[in-house]
Formats: sequence, structure tokens, C-alpha cells
Amino acid sequence: MTIILDGRKLASKLNSELSQEIKKIKQETGHTPSLATILVGTNPASEVYIKIKHRTCQEVGINSLMISLDENISSKKLIHKIEELNKDDNVHAILLQLPLPEPLRKETNKIIQKINPSKDVDGFSYINRGKLFDYKETLAPCTPKGIITLLEHYDIEIESKNVTIINRSNLVGKPLIFMFLNRNATITICHSKTKNIENFMKQSDILIVAVGHPNFITKEKIKEGVVLIDVGTNRVNGKLCGDVNYDEVFEKAYAITPNPGGIGPMTVASLMQNTLICFKNQFNS
Ligand code: NAP
Repeated sequence: MTIILDGRKLASKLNSELSQEIKKIKQETGHTPSLATILVGTNPASEVYIKIKHRTCQEVGINSLMISLDENISSKKLIHKIEELNKDDNVHAILLQLPLPEPLRKETNKIIQKINPSKDVDGFSYINRGKLFDYKETLAPCTPKGIITLLEHYDIEIESKNVTIINRSNLVGKPLIFMFLNRNATITICHSKTKNIENFMKQSDILIVAVGHPNFITKEKIKEGVVLIDVGTNRVNGKLCGDVNYDEVFEKAYAITPNPGGIGPMTVASLMQNTLICFKNQFNS
């Protein structure tokens, strides 16, 4: 029987455990962890993601502050806003929703680096990226953290496995390199310039796909018994789907994430966990 790596179910369990911990913190310290999100412009997908994040904050007892900025804001003004939040003792974690609209997009990294690393809930600052390089997963980016948490929850063996990641973005692929190496896997990274990509897919014990193309993974491309993690988010005829043809590959896989209902909720659960880490950072520094 194929194992369904049910991200929605696990995320719900993790959120409920976190809400208990937050309740206790509130009783003991009188403080409530808080997350500020910054949304620039009106990208419909980003608006949906931000709403989900704030709704989950409410569920787990995190205070959330939603800052919406005009899409024509200058990078100087956006950085000023970030610096204000850095100084605000009532804000423990800061999230800048990506992608930024044009023409700010080319300045994304410069802007992200203005977030105080101890409040950098997405783990994108050079300090937090550097720690990952040194195998310290203190504030690991939320999607990779969600993937690893899901695999470990279902006791999927990682050590000595051939792991292929089809994605090399800062958000997904690059952090995963270190997180899998940390667990003694052998890693292959593929991207749009990889030649004979099918060869890498076919030899993978664990295959992570975050391409953004529906039906990118079909039955003939995978090995029997593979663990398939479908990160991609696509909309086909108004319906959400991932990069994997789920029905076609299901029986051939040892384990598989549904999509939706897999990595999406795990990413949000990791964001909640990271907010608590940022909160603790403020009191331990
Ligand atoms: P991205 O920066 O555009 O990365 C896409 C990656 O796919 C790149 O590395 C790209 O290669 C590679 N790629 C594109 N076409 C390819 C092809 N034909 N063959 C092999 N590789 C190919 O996007 P991202 O931000 O990392 O996100 C990737 C996908 O995951 C999107 O669908 C996004 O919506 C989804 N996502 C979901 C969650 C979640 O919580 N569920 C979180 C993050 C992302 P190059 O580097 O060569 O361009």
C-alpha cells in the first residue's frame, strides 16, 4: 500500500501542539508571539497565501499584523518599514511576501537582507543561510523545513538514500541540499539546464519536485518504490494541482504527498514554528 504523506493532517497536529505551548508561554510570561507580514501590491496568489498565514496565526494564538503596501512603493520606503518593524519590540517575526512586484523584484535580496536575522522568520538572511551551511537548522526556510518534518514524521529513511531535487531556488532547492546532507543522503540537484533529467529521476529513492509544471512527473519517469514530494503549485481549469500526475504514479510510489494537502500546509505550520523561534530569540538575546 502506498503511504500518503498527509501534510494537512500533520500540520493540524503540529499547530494544535504549538497552540498549547503558546498558551503556556502567555500564562508564564504575559507575552504573545507576534508575526508581521508585508505584502507589496495585489498579486492574487500572494493575497491568498497571506490570508491563510494570518488565519493560522489566529488558530494557534499568534498575534499577527498585516501590512499592505502600494505596488509602486520605493525600495527606500519599503526598507524604512522593515527597519521600523525591526525596532518594534511588539513584533517578533517579520515575513516579506514574495515575489515582489516589478520593478522592486530585482532588489528582492537587498531588501530581504534588511530584516533583522533574529526576526527573519523565512530564514533568508545571510546569517540564517550561513547557519544552514554549517548544518545548524535554527531558522530553516519554511518549505524545506516542512518537507523534512513530514518525511521524519512518517519515518521515511533518508540516510544513504539518493535524493533528487528538481529546483535550485533559494526558497526550496538550495536549503534542502544542506538539510538532506545533514541527514547523510546523497543529493542531486536538477534544473532547467540539466541534460537527460530522466536519468536522475529514475535513480531517485526520494524525488522532490518544485518546478511549477502540471504533469511534470509521470509514471514512466520514476523508479518503483520512490518517495515523491510534490511541491509545485499550479492551477488547471480553476483547480489547484502539483507537478506530479498523482493518480498515474500512485501505485508505483512507496509514499507520496497529495497536492493540495501536502507541502502547502506543512509550509504554514513551519512558519508558525519559526515565529515561536523568533519570539524566543527576542528574549534570549
Ligand atoms: P522558481 O524559482 O521558479 O524555481 C523553479 C525551478 O524549477 C527552477 O530551479 C527551474 O530551473 C526549475 N525548472 C523549471 N522548468 C524546468 C524543467 N523543464 N526541467 C527542470 N527544471 C525546471 O520557483 P520556486 O519559488 O522555487 O517555486 C517552485 C514551485 O513550487 C512553484 O510552483 C511554487 O508555486 C511552488 N512552491 C510551493 C510552496 C508550497 O508551500 N506548497 C512553497 C514554495 C514554492 P532554473 O533554475 O534553471 O530556472
